[in-house]
Amino acid sequence: MIEEIICIVCPRGCHLKVDPENDYEVTGNACPRGIPYGKAELKNPTRVLTSTVIIAGDDLTRCPVKTDQAIPKAKMHEAMQLINQVKLNSPVKVGDVIIENIVGSDANLVVCRDIG
Ligand code: SF4
Repeated sequence: MIEEIICIVCPRGCHLKVDPENDYEVTGNACPRGIPYGKAELKNPTRVLTSTVIIAGDDLTRCPVKTDQAIPKAKMHEAMQLINQVKLNSPVKVGDVIIENIVGSDANLVVCRDIG
């Protein structure tokens, strides 16, 4: 059955049609970048995960964090459970790695703002 998805690679937002029964053929893409996006979105959708974590001893400040590359959408919940257990000790700097290879992916969870 053909799936319809919107390409989010650029703001144009093409309406893609992806056919899993025909080697994930992609149509509706205005440029070639829509093809790998459409295939991946059906086979193994991934997203960069952004969140915040607690700073130890500071109930008012949370530190923004994100994965340094996309992780499988199916692992988002597991990743959030890990992130919710993190307490950072300031100071921290942009790019500091908090969790390496989060949920068995190639991505690291990193700090997005200097604090302290
Ligand atoms: S297919 Fe190309 S033009 Fe269309 S939204 Fe995706 S990246 Fe943009």
